[in-house]
Amino acid sequence: MLLGIKFKAKPTPSQAAILSSWMGGAKFVWNAKCDEDKYLRSYAQKYLTIGTYPKPDQTYSQYRSKEFSPFLKSIPSQILRNSVSNWFDSYQKFFKITERGRPKRKKRGSGLSIHLTRELFEIKNTEEGLKLFIGTKKNNIGFLDVNWHTRKWRQYGNPNSIRIKKSKIGKFSVSFCYGPSEKKNQEKEERKHWFKHIQKNYTKDELEKEVVGIDRGIHLTVATNHGKYPFKEKTLKNLKKYEKRMRKAQKCLSKKQKGSKRRQKQKLKVARVHNKKANIRDNECHHISKKLVTQEQKIFVFEALPIKNQTKSSKGTQENPGKNVRAKSGLNRSILNMAWGKIEIQLKYKARLRNKVVYKINPAYTSQECANCGHTHSNNRDGIHFSCGMCNHKDHADLNAAKVIKKRAINYLLDSGTELSDKGVLRPTKDIGHGNHIRPPRRNPKRQDWKTLSKGKKCQKREESRFPSYIL
Ligand SMILES: [Zn+2]
Repeated sequence: MLLGIKFKAKPTPSQAAILSSWMGGAKFVWNAKCDEDKYLRSYAQKYLTIGTYPKPDQTYSQYRSKEFSPFLKSIPSQILRNSVSNWFDSYQKFFKITERGRPKRKKRGSGLSIHLTRELFEIKNTEEGLKLFIGTKKNNIGFLDVNWHTRKWRQYGNPNSIRIKKSKIGKFSVSFCYGPSEKKNQEKEERKHWFKHIQKNYTKDELEKEVVGIDRGIHLTVATNHGKYPFKEKTLKNLKKYEKRMRKAQKCLSKKQKGSKRRQKQKLKVARVHNKKANIRDNECHHISKKLVTQEQKIFVFEALPIKNQTKSSKGTQENPGKNVRAKSGLNRSILNMAWGKIEIQLKYKARLRNKVVYKINPAYTSQECANCGHTHSNNRDGIHFSCGMCNHKDHADLNAAKVIKKRAINYLLDSGTELSDKGVLRPTKDIGHGNHIRPPRRNPKRQDWKTLSKGKKCQKREESRFPSYIL
C-alpha cells in the first residue's frame, strides 16, 4: 500500500526566492498550455472539419521567448517538462474518466508546487544525517533543510519523485509516496475479498463481536456502540478561539480597499488562521481514528453520508432566495468543524494497514430507529436524548444510532443477497429493515416531466461541450 508523507522544509531566503521562481515558471507553462488548448479548440470548432483537430501535446518550447518570458531561461528545463507532462496526463484522464474536467488554470493566490523527478534531486546519507540536494549539477540551490520527523519510509529506498510545495501562507514542504507498489483497484479487491470471506465464514455471534457501528453527529463527533469519542475539551476551546479570531480577521479584510497592499497582508492573516484551525482539527481526527482502529474489532461500519450535499448552502439565487440561510450555514459550519470526512479517510487507511476493513451502509432513519425493538418514529428523538415510544428504551441519541448501524450492518452481512458497491457500501437486494427502501415512482406527472426534461438537457449540454455541435 502506498502512503503519502510530508515534511517541513526550511529554505534560506535566497533558496526560497529561487524555489518560488521555479514554481512560478511551472505554473506559467501549465497556464499557457490551458490557454493554448482553449484557443485551439475555439479555432478548430470554427474552421476545421472532424478528424483534423489538433491534439493536446507536450510541447512547451514555444513559450520560451526572450521578449515575453525571459525568466524561464533560468529555470531547469526538466521542471517545465514535468509541469507540462503532468498537464498532459491530466488531460488524458479527462478523455478516459467521464466525471473529470479538463485541467484548469492555476489561480493567483493558491498554493504553488514543483514536481521533481530523479534527475532533479538527491537524498544523500551523510555523516551529519540525511540531506536533500535540489537541482541539477549546473543549476541547483544546494542542500535544503528538511525536518525528517520520521525514518519509517527509509526501508523502501529513496522515492522516485518528490513534490515541493509552497502553501498559501508561504510555508514550504517536501512530500512523496513510499511503500510497496500495488495494482490498480487493489483496495477495492481487498474489500471484496473480505466481504466474501465474512459472508462465508462468520456466524451471527462472531459478527456481534467483530462489527463496530460508527455514528457521526454534531453533538458528539463520533459515537460507536462501545462509547463516545468526542473532540477533547481543549481542542473545542481552541477551535472556538480561532473561530473568533477568524471572524475578526475577515471583518477587517472586508474593510480594506481592493487591490491594496494592506488587503494583501490581511489576506495572509486570514489564511494563517484557517491553516491553524485545519491543523488543530487534523490532529484531533488522527487521535480519534487511532483510538478507533486500535480496538480489537475488525469490521467498521459508517453511514454513507453525502457530506457534500448536506453542507450545501441554502442561499439560493437572487430571484429565488432560500429559507433559514443563517441556521443552515451554522449547521454546515458545525458539520465541517467536526470533520466527518477526514475521520473516515483516516480510519480507512489505518484499518488497511492493520488488515481490518471499513464498510458503509445507507443512513436512512438510523437516528429515529430504536436499537432495542426497531420501532421507528421521528418522536423518538429529542436533541441528544433518545426515548423509544414503544418499549421505553432510553439512550444517548448518537449511541443508539451507532447500535442501529451495527445491527443493520450485521443483518446485511448475514444475508446472502447483499451486494457490495464499488465505494464500499453494503446494499441488500431483499427488504431487511430500513435503508433499502426503493421509492415508488413519483405520482405527480408534472414533476416527472420536469425531471426527464432537465436530465435530457444536461446530457445534451455535456455532449456539446465536448464536441462541436455539427458532429451531433
Ligand atoms: Zn424500542
